[in-house]
Order: sequence, then C-alpha cells, then structure tokens
Amino acid sequence: MTAPTSLSASGLAKSYLVQSIRTQALADVSLTLRPGELSLISGPSGCGKSTLLSLMSGLSRPDSGEVHALGTDLGRLDDAGRDAFRLAHCGFVFQGFNLFPALDALEQVQLVLDYRGVPQDEARRGAASALEMVGLGHRSHLRPAELSGGEKQRVAIARAIVKRPRLLFADEPTSALDSVNGAIVTDLLREIAHRSGAIVVCVSHDPRLIARADRVIEMEDGRLRRDSHGAPAPSATEIHP
Ligand code: ADP
Ligand code: MG
Repeated sequence: MTAPTSLSASGLAKSYLVQSIRTQALADVSLTLRPGELSLISGPSGCGKSTLLSLMSGLSRPDSGEVHALGTDLGRLDDAGRDAFRLAHCGFVFQGFNLFPALDALEQVQLVLDYRGVPQDEARRGAASALEMVGLGHRSHLRPAELSGGEKQRVAIARAIVKRPRLLFADEPTSALDSVNGAIVTDLLREIAHRSGAIVVCVSHDPRLIARADRVIEMEDGRLRRDSHGAPAPSATEIHP
C-alpha cells in the first residue's frame, strides 16, 4: 500500500502496434512522485514522456506494471472509474491551450466549476481567485485572441487548478512559448506545487526548464536514465513571502 498522498508507478511497460510494427514506448519504469514539488520529466522527443504521463494520470492503461495514485490502484478501476478519478483529482495543461475562442478568461475557468454544479456566485469567485493566482486578475475579461501565448497558457493553468486538484499534469506546456514566457509558466507550476502541496508533473523536451524544477527525471528510449533533485534559483514567492 502506497501513501495516500503520493503518485507511484512500478514496472510500467507500454508498446504500440502500428502496421505490424511494435514500438516499445516504455519499458520497466518505476518512480514515486511526491506532493509539494514540481517534477520535470525531460528527454528527447519520442522517448516516452507523454506515454508515461498518460499512464500515470489514468488516461491510458499499461501493458504491465501498476500505478498507485493517492492510495488508489488505477489498474483496479474500469474506464468509468478512471474517468471519475481524473475528474475528482487531476488537472491537465497541454501545449495547445485548448481555450474556447468565444469565452473570456473568467468564463473559461468558471466553466469547470459550473460543470461540477457549483453555484454561480461561488464559481465566479473561485474562477477569479484562480486567475489571481496565475497573475491574470486584471485580464480576466479578455478573450483568447486578446491574450498573448504566455497569458493563454496561464488561463489554461488557472482552469486546471480551479478545482484544486491534488495531481497536476502538464505535457509540453511551454513548447508554444518564447523563453521568457516558458520560464514564467514553469515558475508558476512550481509555485503551485509549493503553495498547494499538489503533485505537479511537467513533461518537456526543453532543457531550459531543468534549472527551474525541484526534481528532474531524465528519460531515454522508454526508460528512466537519471533522477536528481536540482538546486534551482528561488522563485519570486520565496524571495517575497
Ligand atoms: P514523447 O512524449 O517523449 O515525445 P511519446 O510517449 O509520445 O514520446 O512516444 C513514445 C514512442 O511511442 C514514440 O516512438 C511514439 O512514436 C510512439 N507512440 C506514442 N503514442 C503512440 C500511439 N498512439 N500509436 C503509436 N505509436 C505511438
Ligand atoms: Mg510528448
């Protein structure tokens, strides 16, 4: 039995069969991620990062191995059970921001709470506070077309954290951003981990993010190659608590 606060994988393997050619995307991957830190899974394109994220978040099932998330063995859940687990505990951020063009920032975030049946006033307040958290309180009336790429990704992060998930997964969240905005978004993910105590996992092939994570897990050819705790520069919140 794993701790009800951790996310762990043991012996994960996954392969894909395409036109009778089998690709081993992951082979025997084991790791435990802890709450309150930003773990960066890094490595070149095709090394299995997205596959690992999708297995650890219950989006897909491994060929073999186990995932225990917050004390639940995801392998024992059926598809509906895993959907319910993700809805209750997981937030997701992707490379493409996946925002609705017609909605302003506040509405994008509020929608998540509306969907969960939270009363309007409370949903509006919750959305406003999530946008404050990502530094966009003053931009909440703007639609995606009026926001920069970095701001759009921060709206997507606000949408992912508004329901206060204990697990936050980000797959290449900085790939569409320049280096300044990439750093802002990464620092924000780290700050969220520190402040909320969530398990935050970010997957990226961009080596510039390595110095900004609490922990760096390097992958190569479907396997873990190195696992290290870095000594990153203090984030803004640590300088001005
Ligand atoms: P990364 O995110 O590090 O770029 P992926 O996990 O997406 O790597 O992919 C790992 C390997 O598995 C690659 O060789 C990729 O082509 C293959 N792969 C990933 N998803 C699929 C899929 N749905 N169907 C077939 N092959 C896939
Ligand atoms: Mg990927």
